[in-house]
Amino acid sequence: MREFGLYIDGEWTAALGGGTFEVIDPANGRPVARVARGGAQDVERAVRAATKAAAAWQAMPLRERAAAMRRVADLMQRDTEELALLETLDSGGTLWYSQVTVTDIAAKRFEYFAGLVDKVEGQQIPVSANHLVYTALEPLGVTAHIIPWNGPLWEASRSVPPALAAGNAVILKPAQEALLGAIKLGELAKEAGLPDGLVNVIPGPGSDVGEALVQHPGIHGITFTGSVATGQRIMRGAAATMKRLVLELGGNAANIVFDDADLERAVEGSVWAAFSNSGQICVSGPRILVHESVREEFTARFVERVKGLSVGPGVENHPIGPVVSEHHMRSVLDYIEVGKQEGAKLLTGGYRATDGALRDGYFVMPTVFDDVTPSMRVWREEVFGPVVTITGFRTEEEAVHMANDTEYGLANGMWTQSLARAHRVARLLQSGQVYVNEWFCGDIQCPAGGYKMSGIGREEGQQALGNYLQLKSVRVNLG
Ligand code: NDP
Repeated sequence: MREFGLYIDGEWTAALGGGTFEVIDPANGRPVARVARGGAQDVERAVRAATKAAAAWQAMPLRERAAAMRRVADLMQRDTEELALLETLDSGGTLWYSQVTVTDIAAKRFEYFAGLVDKVEGQQIPVSANHLVYTALEPLGVTAHIIPWNGPLWEASRSVPPALAAGNAVILKPAQEALLGAIKLGELAKEAGLPDGLVNVIPGPGSDVGEALVQHPGIHGITFTGSVATGQRIMRGAAATMKRLVLELGGNAANIVFDDADLERAVEGSVWAAFSNSGQICVSGPRILVHESVREEFTARFVERVKGLSVGPGVENHPIGPVVSEHHMRSVLDYIEVGKQEGAKLLTGGYRATDGALRDGYFVMPTVFDDVTPSMRVWREEVFGPVVTITGFRTEEEAVHMANDTEYGLANGMWTQSLARAHRVARLLQSGQVYVNEWFCGDIQCPAGGYKMSGIGREEGQQALGNYLQLKSVRVNLG
């Protein structure tokens, strides 16, 4: 049983309120850690520390700032095994992917944004012979990062590096359900030479720590990933102090299999799209739309492949691990019942796995529904679990219409061998990312974010720096 405090001002500390909470391993329902439960008073401490640290960080030579961020990446490489295990223990994710998260995602993001520390450039703007007008880009100050449970280090490493590279100090609020992968980020930052208080980590309830961060006037930006309802609440709360917001609020991607697709590739890719992290990824592909002429063949091959997926603990590297919590498992199982009642045809899965060693964990068998129509809730709502729906289409227009017939717009994808169709359809899909003949865009260079209810702003890529900068115009009369 591991124990963790809050990480504030370069030190592990108890919560001022004295509370703690247990973190559960979803593979067996047993506690794996006890963590300090932060509250509003702890946010106050962290904002004070972060404000001081931001000034120290901004005073450091850029070269040293970049080097310190690179050292965070090096330390992640050094501690890969431990960080990956922590990432898997409470989120339930597959261990090999948690290792990839540490070495190829989190560490790379720190390296990438370290490379941008000295590239925050303003412009000189010609207006007249008598004036010098230029722009300067300045850090916001202190930014808060409220992240979900479906990959704590993955999520933390998405927004923290650009905020630091832009010159800000950060306060990270991970989700109570799964947070261990991210909990040591502050400690790594300190060891790497970042000033004390530059990276603070405050676990605790969203209704307490989260709300306090949103309302605090000393925090100038909030980056949030999670549900639409919480995102809307944060937006309303942040209005009082006019904070910069980046919101990533889930998705319900369509995965379109055209009649000219390489079916083997489409089947394999659709399994990867739908069931990675047991479907608990905002850019998963849970809505499969398949052309009627290949529907029977695709469906038969897809279902056979899904039946062959082994289900078990993430630490044992089974492709289908548990979902994050008992509460979430109930929600996924409820959706499965709704699907059955609505008349969707269950082809495989559809129940909780309770065999042998899995009996105390939160395992939902990979589930495929056929004959799903756009009016059904399993099609319209974000189930966020190992559940996919199959729906047929006859024309490209119909496929595009169905893909866009959702309030979400985070990602969509397609399988086709026609270059013209790929570009034509990519242009029509209403989502921040479009995948063609593969799924997910793991490269840090690739911006991600949502159309419609999926959010505001884009993370990753060079422009993510702009989320954490404000622009000042300076006009000098030379006359
Ligand atoms: P939430 O949106 O409630 O939680 C996400 C984060 O926000 C957590 O850190 C949570 O803290 C925090 N939070 C909760 N309430 C507040 C608040 N009032 N102010 C500030 N922060 C707050 O998501 P859930 O965990 O409840 O998941 C519900 C659904 O959301 C899922 O089933 C899925 O559909 C979707 N989701 C989408 C994700 C995505 O990647 N876009 C990720 C996760 C969920 P805490 O939980 O510790 O209280």
